[in-house]
Amino acid sequence: MKEFKQYINGKFVNSTSSDVTEVLNPCTEEVISIIPGGSIADAQAAVDAAFHAQKDWRKLAAIERAKYLNQMADIIRDNRVFLAETLATEQAKVMSLAQVEIDVTAEYFDYSAAWARRIEGEIIQSDNQKEHLFLHKMPIGVAVGILPWNFPFFVMARKMAPALVTGNTSVIKPSCIAPNTVLEFFKLIEKINLPAGVINYVCGHGATVGNSLSSNSKTGIVSLTGSVFAGQKVMEAAALNITKVSLELGGKAPAIVCADADLELAATAVVNSRINFSGQICNCAERLYVEESIHDQFLDMLKEKMSAVKVEDAFSENNPDMSAQVSKMQLDKIAEMVEFAKKEGAEVIVGGGKDGSKDKGYYFQPTLLTNVNNNMQIARDEIFGPVLPVMTFSTLDEAIAMANDCEYGLTSSIFSENYNKIMHASMELEFGETYVNRQHFEAIQGFHAGWKKSGIGGADGKHGMEEYLQTKVVYSQYR
Ligand code: NAD
Repeated sequence: MKEFKQYINGKFVNSTSSDVTEVLNPCTEEVISIIPGGSIADAQAAVDAAFHAQKDWRKLAAIERAKYLNQMADIIRDNRVFLAETLATEQAKVMSLAQVEIDVTAEYFDYSAAWARRIEGEIIQSDNQKEHLFLHKMPIGVAVGILPWNFPFFVMARKMAPALVTGNTSVIKPSCIAPNTVLEFFKLIEKINLPAGVINYVCGHGATVGNSLSSNSKTGIVSLTGSVFAGQKVMEAAALNITKVSLELGGKAPAIVCADADLELAATAVVNSRINFSGQICNCAERLYVEESIHDQFLDMLKEKMSAVKVEDAFSENNPDMSAQVSKMQLDKIAEMVEFAKKEGAEVIVGGGKDGSKDKGYYFQPTLLTNVNNNMQIARDEIFGPVLPVMTFSTLDEAIAMANDCEYGLTSSIFSENYNKIMHASMELEFGETYVNRQHFEAIQGFHAGWKKSGIGGADGKHGMEEYLQTKVVYSQYR
């Protein structure tokens, strides 16, 4: 079993607290590693280190900073299988998807590095003669990145790479549930000799370590991916020092399927969206609105596909579609929500409970529910499991109204062959992303940003890079 330390100011160090957290393999329920429980003193030391290191780091030419990111990408590729296996073991992500996460993370470092020569300021017209207004884009300082368990490695890159290339330094707080891949990565990249303090990680609990990182007056920006509750707590803590926050929070993505859609494409996309990583992806379709006239036909298609989903250990050679849920807590939460849905009148078409066929592991059956209405808990709250509630609509505006009647605003989708319907829905859906005739999954050059309670600010692409920059206008007169 592995034991990890903290990484602060260029060194692997013991935590000042003897508290530890056990990390489990969700398929076998075995303890696979021990990480520091962390302390407020650890968090403060990491922010201090990053704060001091940033003074020199920001002065390096951006292209020099970028070279470190390219090296990180190379190291990830050289250790692709090891990192994917680490990821699959700690969070029951099937190996095929774990490899995708590792590969995209390497790409993310290279993509961010390529921004080094593209970050531009502006020259603004002055009201005075012989004066220029130079608008500079400057780093903010220490960028704290607080990670979820569901895409821990990719989200680490999302928070670290744009921060570093724009001249900020980074303090990462991994999730206690799936930290290992991030911690192994820090060991692997020791050899690139980044200046001490430029990157740091602190393991620990949200309420202590996460809170301390967010409320530290030396922190310049806190970027959190996680639940709405954690986002609210980070905002409260950051308010102490009016620290910038960037929050990527929960979702309850609607998918709308019109009668004129390519139904085979729509059924495949929606089912994949629900079962990829056992339904634990924030942007994936969480509720389905099907046009009444095709309800029975489409439900049959969903039933066939959901019934065929292969659920096995993440390492199974049978190329499973999904595996266990990440934790017992998640499993119990999903089971409770489905039980409550049944009490509220939902009819189970496929699955409907914990998977009793396995000796060990936190498995839930792929589940299809009908007889659901928009006021039921299963249609309103984030499930984060392989459960698909199906509802119907008679007009597109009715579907859009039901989709928008939600506190979340992360992603949405529409399936139709009618351009006018597609454009109407794309403009009316109150979500940061709308996918047309395809599965929900964002691109690294897009901009992933939730509306409403799904977040503030965002990540990826040019706008994600700008999150880590602040402006300064220099009024420069000459004679
Ligand atoms: P979580 O909120 O339980 O934890 C996320 C992180 O926040 C962890 O590192 C945790 O320790 C930390 N945290 C908790 N309380 C804190 C506090 N008071 N102060 C500072 N940090 C605190 O979320 P999770 O269970 O790891 O992840 C699942 C959630 O993340 C889901 O709601 C999912 O939708 C969301 N998510 C969103 C996106 C997105 O891009 N919008 C992506 C992935 C996951």
